[in-house]
Amino acid sequence: MPSSTDPDVKSQLAAADHERVGDQPNTRAQVSELSLLRPAERLPEPAAGSAGGMGQSATIVQQIGDGRPVRLIGDVVVELGFATREKVEEAVEIARAQRKPTGQVLVEQGVLRHDQLARVVAERFGLDYIDLSVYELDMGAVNLIDMEAIRRYQAVPVGFLEDGTLLLAMADPTNVLSIDDIAMLTGRRVRSASASIEDLNILIMRLSRVEQSIEEVVEEDPQEESDFQIDEADKDAPVIKLVHSIIAEAIEQSASDIHIDPGEGDMRVLLRIDGVLSQTATLKRSMATSVISRVKIMSEIDISERRVPQDGRFALTVNGRRVDVRVTTLPLVYGEGAYLRILDKGVAVRGLESLGMQRTEQDRFAYAIARPNGAVLVTGPTGSGKSTTLYAALGAINDGSRSILTIEDPVESRIAGVKQMQVAPKAGMTFAGGLRAMLRADPDVIMVGEIRDRETAHIAVEAALTGHLVLSTLHTRDAPSALGRLMDMGIEPFLISSAIDCVVAQRLVRVLCPHCKQPSKVPESLLAEYGLYESEAFESAGCTRCSATGYRGRMGIYEVMSVSEEIRALVLRNASVDEIAATAMGQGMRRMREDGIAKVRAGQTSIAEIERMTTSML
Ligand SMILES: [Zn+2]
Repeated sequence: MPSSTDPDVKSQLAAADHERVGDQPNTRAQVSELSLLRPAERLPEPAAGSAGGMGQSATIVQQIGDGRPVRLIGDVVVELGFATREKVEEAVEIARAQRKPTGQVLVEQGVLRHDQLARVVAERFGLDYIDLSVYELDMGAVNLIDMEAIRRYQAVPVGFLEDGTLLLAMADPTNVLSIDDIAMLTGRRVRSASASIEDLNILIMRLSRVEQSIEEVVEEDPQEESDFQIDEADKDAPVIKLVHSIIAEAIEQSASDIHIDPGEGDMRVLLRIDGVLSQTATLKRSMATSVISRVKIMSEIDISERRVPQDGRFALTVNGRRVDVRVTTLPLVYGEGAYLRILDKGVAVRGLESLGMQRTEQDRFAYAIARPNGAVLVTGPTGSGKSTTLYAALGAINDGSRSILTIEDPVESRIAGVKQMQVAPKAGMTFAGGLRAMLRADPDVIMVGEIRDRETAHIAVEAALTGHLVLSTLHTRDAPSALGRLMDMGIEPFLISSAIDCVVAQRLVRVLCPHCKQPSKVPESLLAEYGLYESEAFESAGCTRCSATGYRGRMGIYEVMSVSEEIRALVLRNASVDEIAATAMGQGMRRMREDGIAKVRAGQTSIAEIERMTTSML
């Protein structure tokens, strides 16, 4: 057993990555198991030994170490299989020569990654290691101390143990002074755990950004009072802060939806990012009801009614941008859940060239929207990025020389210089009705959010034939099917064949995270089908920059069909969609899947994404 004065221990401690350790050696006994935490995995209960220690201790701080002699950092590195003995010896030599901590040198020399060093520290001092890139934060714990303290101590409270002990993620989990301070600040027992300094910095940065935007929500809100009044009296209440931080986090991560899901135990908070749901936080059951109530108050939903689904909405200003939120509550068996759809109107309209179309496709599309009349249709299922494409088209032709009118459901982005209307079926404002009214207002370009019925289809086609450029969307699986769909809706083939100039079909695929993508093995079937070679594909891995998903952002895969004379003739004689497709391909139309494979070859997305998006068409 080492004592505080044992010079050997001192030198070993100094050899850790973090030097402040030296003045607080591990004299107090505590038993803690090393566990690699995975999402939702519970930490083991602190053993009896630590509880006894707490009682006697003047402070309510956990103790460092498990009573074993602290081993040399090099031994732990070798034992965990992170490096060879030789590599470690080399680093120790350099550390001695440069008077640096061995851990630091091991990382500098590329022998260890930051996360491996954190594991080494955990193993060495008998603490837990937390992989922050996958660990689910308990926002209730995070909110216990303010950002200033988080930054000052370089420590983030990430959750609670069963007995209410606060779990603290630190790059230097042996810093007893910091642990002590945080115990005092929170009035809780604190147990430190080792985290990679890289992960910790990313997390602190993320939390800082979230906090900054919340402050602005609160401070900049006076002019938004008609949307949502913050009650002065309870402005600082933890539950309001918590709700704000959930929303701010969602906006920070460009999430489209927030799910606050009740379960048997704790409540889960999930965000839909790039079309995929992932859990970001858990809320203690005791907090859950107040969080749901707060969301209901904000959305002007009847707070006392918990047995029926309700709808509402509210608006916030986040970083100076107005964000509308639509809320639906559902009475589920485990309690009420809230589902928030974020409509961020400040999102900039993208340029045509940023849609991710390849040259040929972009040229075809640009040619069609530059014409003074005719119809250009964008097709795909809900959430396939059709509106983004239409907005990009409007942005490209919006030079002030043409009157542009839109009717949308809802207006997703506001474009300067474009006259936008929103459908309001309850007030009698439908796509068809709005479209008819628009035509009387002398427009050059008309954008109809969606063609859902025969009446809208008919007016749109007629408008395209009477000197207007018409842009709209349809729900069809591919480009040729759009012509078939219009025929099915009862539109005369001669009208379709002369009105429709171009059809774009699209899906959104996730873009591989540039920081962690790795070469993948291409399945045999695809090798045969598309002539891909092994070296030509990448797959996702997952790192802290992409929240362990392996992807960051999304891009479109496209199929752009120019309606040629041959295709017009096929429509006139009621040809099948297959015939139309064959002719279009003969004229150089690249199928969506082929476009996807080209993007796999370019290292932009994965085969898994293309398979996901193109095998389940609609
Ligand atoms: Zn990544």
